[in-house]
Amino acid sequence: EALDRIQALEPKLHSFLTVTAQQALEQARAVDAKIAAGEEIGILAGIPIGVKDNMCTKGIRTTCASKILENFIPPYESTVTQKLAQAGAVTVGKTNLDEFAMGSSTENSAYQTTANPWDISRVPGGSSGGSAAAVAAEECVVSLGSDTGGSIRQPASFCGVVGMKPTYGLVSRYGLVAYASSLDQIGPFGRSVEDAAILLNAIAGYDPQDSTSLKVEIPDYTANLTPDLKGKKLKVGVIKETFGEGLDPEVDAAVKNAIAQLETLGAEIHYISCPRFRYGVPSYYIIAPSEASANLARYDGVKYGLRSPDADNLLSMYTSTRAAGFGTEVKRRIMIGTYALSAGYYDAYYLKAQKVRTLIKEDFETAFQQVDILVSPTAPTTAFQAGEKITDPLSMYLNDLMTIPVNLAGLPGISIPCGFDSKGLPIGLQLIGKVLREDQLLQVAYSYE
Ligand code: GLN
Repeated sequence: EALDRIQALEPKLHSFLTVTAQQALEQARAVDAKIAAGEEIGILAGIPIGVKDNMCTKGIRTTCASKILENFIPPYESTVTQKLAQAGAVTVGKTNLDEFAMGSSTENSAYQTTANPWDISRVPGGSSGGSAAAVAAEECVVSLGSDTGGSIRQPASFCGVVGMKPTYGLVSRYGLVAYASSLDQIGPFGRSVEDAAILLNAIAGYDPQDSTSLKVEIPDYTANLTPDLKGKKLKVGVIKETFGEGLDPEVDAAVKNAIAQLETLGAEIHYISCPRFRYGVPSYYIIAPSEASANLARYDGVKYGLRSPDADNLLSMYTSTRAAGFGTEVKRRIMIGTYALSAGYYDAYYLKAQKVRTLIKEDFETAFQQVDILVSPTAPTTAFQAGEKITDPLSMYLNDLMTIPVNLAGLPGISIPCGFDSKGLPIGLQLIGKVLREDQLLQVAYSYE
């Protein structure tokens, strides 16, 4: 059914870069055979799933939506996709993204622009726009995305689905193509909080292959999903600074309505100030490009990926390969990052941004002394028109205002649908939890849903 749906919708949606129909059917038949033989099946047995095309899949093209990896077939499997296979999931394909996960609309993909299923003249958000659109349009049941500054939560908000960024280190990054390693985290998309929780159960856990992986006990994330919060004494803090100038009035109203509903469900509502929240975007746009400039140095035409034929010496092979292989936004970020890390500017930019990052973390620590969960809108607007922001990178960057601080502090965050604007476009509510308190986060999200 998922494959039929993909065939019918892809000409308009373009959520997938690669559809793995053959392999999906084999995986599904393997599950059937297990059931017939009375063998035990995994928690995702037979569930069609989409995987963002920046996670390595052995033998299956992994492009990162970049020309530089157009023909890259990984010789190894990422930890998350290994875990999916162990749980019996059926991978239907690799989903579209902004090149190297840099962007907020999927318009930076070198191959195609994904449409928002609610209005195909609009973007699905990004960078995990393909994964969000595929779940919203029922091309698959759940999907995986990656979130460095909001790339799971913002597209979830634009597409009216649930999207979660776990605590940094909860899900292994082994086999995830690196963008900004201190911020990148893989997480689930689903059409319900419960689906997202089930997928998180399957992918979370310590991995010796990832040096930043946390050695912690993984609870059952579906265990706490109760219809209300009565008697739980949960304190929910509204981040004051995320309301005000620049926030679409319809988003403002829907999110305030959701907060009132949380109160009815039994949460105690507080108003909290995070005064340094607004420095998230400027510090992120130093730190993320700096890490990206180092991570992307590996695409030199030597070991794998594209090699430009227009070169007569080693240096010109590097430069012509990178000139031909990377798109505009990726080049912009490599240049910003290289500049920020260069001698003479390092202290003024990179070091300063790291100090600001610490201050933002402190704001969250202070807030979490008073409350258990923080709430804000996920994005300042609903889905914008394709082409609307593509020539204005700064206005594109500002779309991640509310999500970026969460990555800088390494915290878990989730976006859940909380209504529609007058154009019929979905609005997202962001909930932010304490480190490793995904259980609480999912509990509040579930009760609201
Ligand atoms: N939109 C942000 C960026 O362009 C975040 C991307 C992400 O989370 N991968 O960097």
